[in-house]
Amino acid sequence: MSKLEAFIKAGKNESLVVGPVERYLITKSKKSGNSHRWGLYPSEICKTDWCPRQSYYRLSDEPFEEPTTTRSRFPLDKIFAEGNESGRRWQNWLWEMKVLWGEWECLFCKNRWMDNSPDQCPFCRVEGKELLRYKEIPLEDKEHIIVGHADGGLGEFGVLVENKTVGKGTIRIEEPDLLKTHTYQVNNKTVYDLESIWKELRRPFASHMKQGQIYLHMRSEANPEVLFDERIVFVYDFKQDQTTKEFVVRYNPKIIEDILSSCLDIKQSLELKQPPSRPIWASVDNSTCKGCVYMKTCWDINDENIGTITSSNTSKGRTRARKTTPTRATPIQVPEITLELNGLDGHGSDELIRPTNSIHKLLRGPTRSI
Ligand code: SF4
Ligand SMILES: [Zn+2]
Repeated sequence: MSKLEAFIKAGKNESLVVGPVERYLITKSKKSGNSHRWGLYPSEICKTDWCPRQSYYRLSDEPFEEPTTTRSRFPLDKIFAEGNESGRRWQNWLWEMKVLWGEWECLFCKNRWMDNSPDQCPFCRVEGKELLRYKEIPLEDKEHIIVGHADGGLGEFGVLVENKTVGKGTIRIEEPDLLKTHTYQVNNKTVYDLESIWKELRRPFASHMKQGQIYLHMRSEANPEVLFDERIVFVYDFKQDQTTKEFVVRYNPKIIEDILSSCLDIKQSLELKQPPSRPIWASVDNSTCKGCVYMKTCWDINDENIGTITSSNTSKGRTRARKTTPTRATPIQVPEITLELNGLDGHGSDELIRPTNSIHKLLRGPTRSI
């Protein structure tokens, strides 16, 4: 379904709130389509179905077309919006506690600067939280052309913070097999035992883990003024009952070796103006390919033969392609996690999950100058 069709369909919805909001989100995503910084995004390259060729097309400004899939983006948009809202809450609390470090913007004079939980703009001296906006921690790695933002950081302790909300949608995206094994049929109804999944969760989901490792990899290049050490704190909020879990993860470059090497491949492909080869899982019937805005270009499909692929199309795609490491072929690695229970300077507990309130203990831990 094209964006236009989705827009019209949303308009036919007789609802007073849901229909108009759905239309608003479609318009908003259209307007903001090109507003992001140029580069590879950590959330993009850490997905289990990441396609380097798709990233290449995006970075080359290849014209795109709406995917052939009819799936609505609305549920996904709501998951993202909920995640953003939850992240804002944690950022606000850490700001009020005077421990949140990162980039700030003054809404009055529009200046931006790096600081630890300010309550005043250092340029125009305007005061008050309502006139300052937290812009998170900008990160970048020029060598691998990656740009992104970490949700937050505790500057005094030198750790990054990432917040994620966990619900059925998140688990379906991150660990579909885990959701399947906790799905039951009871009286002809499908029941998801999300509580058991949550209870048994001992580490961040694989793509979150990789995203955190990318942030740690980029932590000092973009922010040399703060000595970030090798830890990132994941704060997971369970949507079902609003309980929280915290995982402290150490830097382990092995986890992202393949991703970084694929980033270099894309960089080289951009220089050579030749797309990297398709991942080995790719096909015209693959759901990721079907939802890809570059499907027609990638498979050289025209409107008449959409959904089919001819041998000449196949060979054309392949001769243009250069060999790269197929990302999907790499098994998801389950990294070792070290969690600390007694403040930031302690090490070595085998306990995998820190109690919910331990972030407060962590914040009361010993300070160190930066
Ligand atoms: S159609 Fe498939 S292989 Fe081609 S760029 Fe898109 S996701 Fe990659
Ligand atoms: Zn100002």
